[in-house]
Amino acid sequence: MKLFKLSILPLAILLISFACKKSATDTTTSTGTATVPEVYKKIYGASSISSDGTYLTIKTTGTPDHKSIYYATSNSLYENFSGTTFGGRTFAKNPNSIAAQTLTFKIPLNPAVSSNHASTPLGPIGISLNGVPFYNQYAGPNLPLTNEANSFDQYYGHPQQSGQYHYHVEPIYLTTVKATKSSLLGFLLDGFPVYGPMENGSLVTNAMLDAYHGHTAATTDYPNGIYHYHITDADPYINGSGFYGTAGTVTQ
Ligand SMILES: [Zn+2]
Ligand SMILES: [Zn+2]
Repeated sequence: MKLFKLSILPLAILLISFACKKSATDTTTSTGTATVPEVYKKIYGASSISSDGTYLTIKTTGTPDHKSIYYATSNSLYENFSGTTFGGRTFAKNPNSIAAQTLTFKIPLNPAVSSNHASTPLGPIGISLNGVPFYNQYAGPNLPLTNEANSFDQYYGHPQQSGQYHYHVEPIYLTTVKATKSSLLGFLLDGFPVYGPMENGSLVTNAMLDAYHGHTAATTDYPNGIYHYHITDADPYINGSGFYGTAGTVTQ
C-alpha cells in the first residue's frame, strides 16, 4: 500500500503539470486571446470557451446534464422512461446509447447576415446551454423527423448511432428547469442566438418568423436588438431553410 502511494505521487504531479501546459497552449493562439463576452458564459455545459477576437471556440462532450433512458443503466443519470413523448407520440427507444463526444464549435463572435443562407448540415448545427448540440429538422437527407420523433426521451433528445445526443426540438430540461421558455437557449453555428418558444408572454408561431426561423427584435441579452432564432412547437422547430448568417464550423 505504501509503495503504491509513493509511486503514484510523481505520476499525479506529472499529469497535473501536463494538463496545465495543455490548457495554456489552447488559449494562446497566433492572433492572441480576447475576452469572452458574458452572454456566452450562459453555455454552462461547455468544457471550455475561448475567443480570438473573431471566433469563439466552444468545446463540449455533448452529454446531457439531465436524466435519460439512453444513459447506461450504471450511470447515475440513467432513468427509465415509457409512455408519451414529444407531440403525444408513444415513446419507442432507439438502439443507441449516449457516449461522450469531442465537439469543437467555432462560431463568429460578430454574427453577420449572409447572402446565400447556406442549408444547415445533418449533425450539429448549434450548441445549447448544457453543451448538447442542436440538430435540424431532418432525420436524414430529405427525411422528415416524423418517424424518429417517437424516440425522443423524457427531455426530448436522443442519441444517434455514434452515441451523440442531440435536440431537434425544444429542450424542455432547459426551458422548464435551467431557464425559461423565453430564455436564450444557445447559438447556431452562424453565431446568432436561439430563444425558446415564448416572447413577451406570448407563444411564438412559425408564422411570426422568416424563412430561416427567426426575426430581429430586442431581447433581455441584447437590449439593442439582434436577429435571433426561436424554437417553436411545429416543424421546422429550430431552423428553417438555412442559416441566416455565415456559419462557422464544428469538428468532431
Ligand atoms: Zn436525431
Ligand atoms: Zn424573438
